[in-house]
Amino acid sequence: MNMDELKGKTVLVTGGGGGIGRAIALAYGARKASVIVVGRNESKLEAMARECKQAGIELLTLPCDVTKKEQVSALRQEISEHLGIVQILVNNAGTAPAVSFLEMEDRLWEYVLDVNLNGTYHCCKAFLPDIIASGWGRIINIASTVARTAYPSISAYTTSKHAVLGLTRSLAVETARRGITVNAICPGYVDTELTRHNAELMAERSGKTVDEVLSLFASSSPQKRLITAEEVAFVAVTLASESARGITGQAINVDGGAVMA
Ligand code: NAD
Repeated sequence: MNMDELKGKTVLVTGGGGGIGRAIALAYGARKASVIVVGRNESKLEAMARECKQAGIELLTLPCDVTKKEQVSALRQEISEHLGIVQILVNNAGTAPAVSFLEMEDRLWEYVLDVNLNGTYHCCKAFLPDIIASGWGRIINIASTVARTAYPSISAYTTSKHAVLGLTRSLAVETARRGITVNAICPGYVDTELTRHNAELMAERSGKTVDEVLSLFASSSPQKRLITAEEVAFVAVTLASESARGITGQAINVDGGAVMA
């Protein structure tokens, strides 16, 4: 991929204060795209932007809770008035609490679907008209291997990511003739705060140490390791290249071979 190919393109990454979103924002920033990172925690976002600036990468951060349709609409308005049109939308904001189906409270089910599915929906709904009007675009949804398989104690998460994949495929066919591609990236266990937090909870419940649980996660993939956020970011940037224009409606696993479907 030509390093200048994304220069001047405006990219929006949701939930980018840390983990995979941060790595994606940095990868686009390194290719001179104009990157806007949104999330709920303004001070975390600002700290990240300062860190990136020291590393020579400029990012703009704005507050937005993707579950709030009016906040997403206001974000779109602000970006289009002051910064131009978002052509690359990376729906990364997500949550993955683990609890067995019968113990799960209704509000947890609703919350997970709200962040992972409705958040993605709100952003697609708000930004797709501009992407269509610009005649070129990319929507990249960070799903999960559980968009295509299932594991115990994460039924809400699994359901939400299956639905994100359904939305990805639907939008891909609806936008296929407009210069737009819509794809999902399906990571396995990635070495981020989210995975560490889940490992801590599992350690508490099982009497294992956090490191033992992390090793269990790692050993679930044939490569016997956790994926890095940068490996996911590599795919997110590659999908935005011109050479990837034929890839749409796909779910691309980045999981060390854990799920082969
Ligand atoms: P993370 O917790 O580090 O990042 C998720 C980000 O989303 C956080 O910054 C969080 O504040 C933000 N967020 C949550 N709710 C939000 C909301 N309502 N509005 C705006 N931002 C919100 O976790 P991560 O591991 O970097 O996960 C990023 C994405 O990758 C998620 O969609 C997750 O489901 C997916 N994923 C992660 C893994 C993994 O193993 N870590 C595996 C597969 C998929």
